[in-house]
Amino acid sequence: MSNCQVIDLGEGVIIPGLVNTHTHLEFSDLEYPLGQPGINFTDWIRLIVSRRIESNQETGTTGSMNRKIAAIQRGIEESSESGVWAIGEIATMPVELDDYRNRPANMLLMCFLEQLGRDETAIPTREADLDAFFNQRGWVGSSPIQIGASPHAPYSVAPNLLRQICRQANAANRPVAMHLAETLAEREFVDHQTGEFVSLLQDFGVWNPGSPDSVLSIGETLKVLSSVPLSLIVHGNYLSDCELDFVSSCSERMSVAFCPRTHHFFGHSAYPLEKMLKRKINICLGTDSRASNPDLDLFEEAKFVANSFSRVDPRLILKMATLNGAHALGVTQAYGSLIAGKKPAMCLVTHPGADSGDSPFDWMFDRDSKCAPL
Ligand SMILES: [Zn+2]
Repeated sequence: MSNCQVIDLGEGVIIPGLVNTHTHLEFSDLEYPLGQPGINFTDWIRLIVSRRIESNQETGTTGSMNRKIAAIQRGIEESSESGVWAIGEIATMPVELDDYRNRPANMLLMCFLEQLGRDETAIPTREADLDAFFNQRGWVGSSPIQIGASPHAPYSVAPNLLRQICRQANAANRPVAMHLAETLAEREFVDHQTGEFVSLLQDFGVWNPGSPDSVLSIGETLKVLSSVPLSLIVHGNYLSDCELDFVSSCSERMSVAFCPRTHHFFGHSAYPLEKMLKRKINICLGTDSRASNPDLDLFEEAKFVANSFSRVDPRLILKMATLNGAHALGVTQAYGSLIAGKKPAMCLVTHPGADSGDSPFDWMFDRDSKCAPL
């Protein structure tokens, strides 16, 4: 006779734990996104940088670190409450894995260390920082933590720094995540070295147009990223057909993180979701941070996709929020689906019409559905 306890959860469906492949937890103390919807992207970056500077001035380095750690904690709690069981986090220096210690049992954190810099003389320092980060021991008990690298974006990372990061990731068999093809201004910058990113870099005193190898095209960046065992393209809002074909040709080791409500916040052109699906690209979902999104609720991202792309099968949207995300983070052995042997990371989705006899996919992403961790 087994000792199993029977729990009646009521009407609803059990789904795998959600995977939020892209966020920046350090901004989780923001009540509202920075700037107004439709804000110019480089103006938004200026707001982010100003906020960091002000925080340091107001509270000093220690106070600023304490604020950051508290924000991370708040973000972990918020994620957990909305059914997220695995997080792709972009961590900024200074950082220690202990900053992420308080997590629910079985919640995975994939911590990508963000690196940026257009000054190639600083590459040895970045290299040492990344080595030290890679050499930390993540604890693998009930709350696993894994480590990766994140070259920030084409406008903020010197090509040789990108190559160096990918060499190190390759040698250590670590994943890499990079913001790429996020804005049209970024495309203008990499293709012509003109536009608002030049002004931004000039204002920050880091524009170095003299170097013949100062910028890589999006296609060249994709090639460098394809050299690592696992890479995550964050956003990919403006990838060309040819670049999408390339990502598709690497779909076993290269994924794309779509952040639907952040995409909407900036007022970008329609997301090329159906083009990606047609090419069988591994598309997963992310919230990005509270600096550009109202919250860290990944289920709301899935609902937003269902509402914006009515022709996309809801089964596929559920897969983007779960199994595809686990694939992107390299953790399908433990997350992303309900199979014996995986972590007990599950959610319950409920809806007022859940007892109607209809397929759950008829109401799963309806406005009134709710997702909670089990
Ligand atoms: Zn981001």
